[in-house]
Amino acid sequence: MTPSFDLQHIISCVSGYDPNALRVDAALAVIQASMQPVQANERLAVRAALGRVLAQDIISPIDVPAHDNSAMDGYALRGADLAAQGDTVLSIAGRGLAGHAFSGEAPAGSAVRIMTGAVMPAGCDTVVPQEFCRVEGDQVIFPPGLVRPGDNRRLRGEDLARGKAALPAGKLLRPADLGLMASLGMAEVSVRRKLRVAFFSSGDELRSVGQPLDPGCVYDSNRYTLWGMLERLGCEVIDLGVVADNPQAVEAALRTATECADVVITSGGVSVGEADYLRSTLANMGEVVFWRIAMRPGRPLAFGQLRAGAHSAWLFGLPGNPVAVMVTFYAFVRPALLHCMGASPQPQPMLRAVSAQTLRKKPGRTEYQRGLLTALPDGRWQVSAIGNQGSGVLSSMSQAHGLIVLHHEQSTAQAGDLVDVLLFDGLV
Ligand code: AMP
Ligand code: MG
Repeated sequence: MTPSFDLQHIISCVSGYDPNALRVDAALAVIQASMQPVQANERLAVRAALGRVLAQDIISPIDVPAHDNSAMDGYALRGADLAAQGDTVLSIAGRGLAGHAFSGEAPAGSAVRIMTGAVMPAGCDTVVPQEFCRVEGDQVIFPPGLVRPGDNRRLRGEDLARGKAALPAGKLLRPADLGLMASLGMAEVSVRRKLRVAFFSSGDELRSVGQPLDPGCVYDSNRYTLWGMLERLGCEVIDLGVVADNPQAVEAALRTATECADVVITSGGVSVGEADYLRSTLANMGEVVFWRIAMRPGRPLAFGQLRAGAHSAWLFGLPGNPVAVMVTFYAFVRPALLHCMGASPQPQPMLRAVSAQTLRKKPGRTEYQRGLLTALPDGRWQVSAIGNQGSGVLSSMSQAHGLIVLHHEQSTAQAGDLVDVLLFDGLV
C-alpha cells in the first residue's frame, strides 16, 4: 500500500467537513479518495476465480457461437423458398443434429430436418419449428404466416464476437462470468490478489467462545459477524482475537496487524471517553481521524493509516455495539474494501417498499433500521421496522431481511410512504 498519504489534504477538499457531525457520504468520499487498489495479480483456474476481481479485460478469441445454428427443433430451409401464398411444401434433403452437421448444401426447394444447436446447412437461413409441420412421405408441409426469412436462426458470434471485449477488468466474477470464460475455451484467468484484512476486538469485558462467561462479561460476537462479512467479500481474513485494555497489548496487536494486512479493523474502544488505550495508541501509530458520523446506529468511527516499520495498513476503528459494527461495515468498510480489491464501482440497488408504520426521524443524519419485508396483495413490498432497534440487539439483525435507509435529508416517514430498503440477500 502506498506510503504517501496526506489525510489532512484529502479532508480539506471535502466541503462542509465537520469531524463531529460528518455526513455518511462525506466520510465515504474521504475514505475512497484515500485508499488505492491492490496492484498484484495472480492466475487462477476459472472456477477458483469465483468472487474475485478480474485483473484485465478479456477479449474474445473466438466467435461464440462459432457457426450459425438452429434455435429450434424443426426444419431448416431457404427463406426464399417460403410460399408467397398457401402451404409451403419442401422435400426433405437429410438431417442435422447438434454435433453432427448436415453435410453439403441443401438444394433449393428442400428442407433439412434440424435439431437445436445443429449447424445451419449451407444455403439455409431459416428454421420452421417442428410443431408447425406435417410430414408426408419425404416432404414437409407447413401453413403460411408462421415464419419469416431468418427466423429461429442463431448467428455466428451473436453471443460474443471474436476480438470484442467479453468481460471488463474490475468485474467481480459471478457464476455467469465463469460460464462465459468457459464458452471462450479459457482454463485460467488473471485476478487481483486477495485483500488481507486483520481484525481484533477490544474490551476487558469480552470473552471468546469456549471461555467461561465471568460476571459482567459478554461473548465477543463482532469477530464472527466481521469474519462472515469479510469472507463473503472474498478477503483473506486474519483474526487476531480479543485484545485486553492495556497499552502494550493494544500496541502489539496493532503492530502485528499492520505488518501482516492491507486493512486493519478494530471494534470497540473508539467512543469519546473510553477507559481504554485503543484511541491513544491508534493516534500514535499513524495518521488517524476520529469521527462522529451523522448516522444511527454507529456514530463513532476511526479511519486512517497505521505504520509499523516499513509496513503500512489502512485502519477502520468501528464502534463496539454489535449492530453498529455491521451497519458501519456495510456503509463504509464494504465499499472501501471493494475499491481496494480493484472492483469497479457498482450501484447498490435498493428496494422501494411501503412503510408499515410511522418511522420517526429528524433530517440531518442517516438512519438504518432493521426491517422485515412482506409481499402485499397488490404486488408491492411492505417493510416493517423490527420492534427492538437497540444497537446491541443482534437478534434483530439476524431476523431482518434488510436495512431501511432513511437518508440524510429525509424526515419522518409516514405509514404508507415509500422508503428505501438495502437487502441483505442477492441472487448471486
Ligand atoms: P464500546 O464501543 O467499546 O464502548 O462498546 C460498546 C458496547 O458494545 C459495549 O456494550 C460493549 O460491551 C459491546 N461490545 C464491544 N465489543 C464487542 C464485541 N466484540 N462483541 C460483543 N459486544 C461488544
Ligand atoms: Mg469498550
